[in-house]
Parts: sequence; structure tokens; C-alpha cells
Amino acid sequence: MYHDIFLKSPEPFIPRSSNIYHISEQTFIEHLNQIKKSKVNVVGLTKLSTSKDSISLTFDDGWIGAFKIGLPIIKEFGFKCTFFITKSFVGRQGFVNEKGIVMASEAGMEIGVHGTTHRMLSNCSNDEILWEFKNCRKYLESLTGQNIISASMPGGDWNKNIASCAKEAGFKNLCVSTPGINYSYTNSYKLQRIAITDKTNGRDISRYCDKDISKELIKSRFFNLPKKILGMRKYSNLRRWILGENKNSNSEIFKP
Ligand SMILES: [Zn+2]
Repeated sequence: MYHDIFLKSPEPFIPRSSNIYHISEQTFIEHLNQIKKSKVNVVGLTKLSTSKDSISLTFDDGWIGAFKIGLPIIKEFGFKCTFFITKSFVGRQGFVNEKGIVMASEAGMEIGVHGTTHRMLSNCSNDEILWEFKNCRKYLESLTGQNIISASMPGGDWNKNIASCAKEAGFKNLCVSTPGINYSYTNSYKLQRIAITDKTNGRDISRYCDKDISKELIKSRFFNLPKKILGMRKYSNLRRWILGENKNSNSEIFKP
């Protein structure tokens, strides 16, 4: 689960709670070199369930660096990836515009839905959840001509009801943000992903390709405890307070 890629350093307007997940071009190339060495197949998310020993590279939110810097590198390696787009972010400062999405689609990359507004869905009504999924799906389908059947959850916020709504909205795959390896019997409406942060190095990537994610599982159990106790909104506010951000600042929209 990637987000953004920058050349030398992250843009100063991006708050720390977001740019933890943003990596440099040099690091990204190091990651892809490790993947190439490990000889796993790199496929779009819709091909994952039918390809043996495969991994998928996904990018959430629609950050501009993922398209401008990441995409040419991915193409050079001959890999495929999936971009999850939030409709209301398209064309905003720091995010891809419509032309960029079309270009990625034409380059053979998969496009998926990451909500219409990026709000957390566990507190929404079914009508609101369906609108978040369907509105973005329709927009991306008419923009790219792709049949869009994959989505990822803003903030990783997931429950069974959200998964049923995703199915009703026409999706076949739904990605969350909890770490795990997906098998052919895994619920395709709860596909697990490993978050790539600015601390993820080549050795970590090579571990992931060997299906060793023990470190990430321990970390995730530790961080899930306050999430469960506090609930998603309070947890996000606490996280931003720890990172020195004002909870009323406009960084709300950048929550990964
Ligand atoms: Zn996001």
C-alpha cells in the first residue's frame, strides 16, 4: 500500500500524518529492484486471485507523485499497479488531474475507487456508503472506459456492512489497510495490504516477497488496540496530536 513518491523531499504543505507514507524516488527504485530479484509476479489487483505467487502494488488517494514519478518507473520494470482515486481530490494541489488518470489507464494500469470524499464510512448510513462508492465508480468508469471493480477503504475503515455495500455497488475486490497475506480462499472484500512508510527499506520489501510479515503483524496488533478503544475518529485525532497537528487544520482530508 503505497501513497506518494517525491523527488528529493515531500512538499511542505503535506502534514506529517500523511507524509509518513510518502517515499523518495530513489527508495521506490530500490523497492522495485528487490521485487524484481525475488521473482514474484507483479500484477494488477483484479489479476491477484488468479496469479500464483503474485503481489500487487497499490497507490491510495491519487497523489500526483505516484503518477508523475512512480508510473514511469513501474513501466520501466514492466510491472502493473492499481491506483485508487478519491474523486474530490482529483485536480487539487498535490493530486493527479483527469488527464493523468486517463494516461495511467491507457498505460495498462488498473484504476480503483477510494471514495468520493474520503470520509470514514463506518459512521455513515447505507445510502451514504453506497453514494461514496457508486459516485466515484461512475466518474472513473466514464473517464477511463475501464470496468472498475476494485476499491480501497479510506483510513482502512472497514466493517461487514461496508463490505456488503461495496458488493451492492458493483465491486469484486475491496482492500483494507491491515497487514496480511491474501490466499485464494481470502475474502475478496477484505484484501489485506502492507503499508509502505518512509521507514520501509529494501530488506523489508524482500521479506514481504517471501511472505514474512511477522514484524508488521505485531506492530498492527499494538496500534489496533487504541483504535478499538477510542474509535476511528478519536484515534485519528490522537495520532495527529502526537504528530503535532491541529485537529481542526485542513489536514483532515489527507488522512491516508
Ligand atoms: Zn486515503
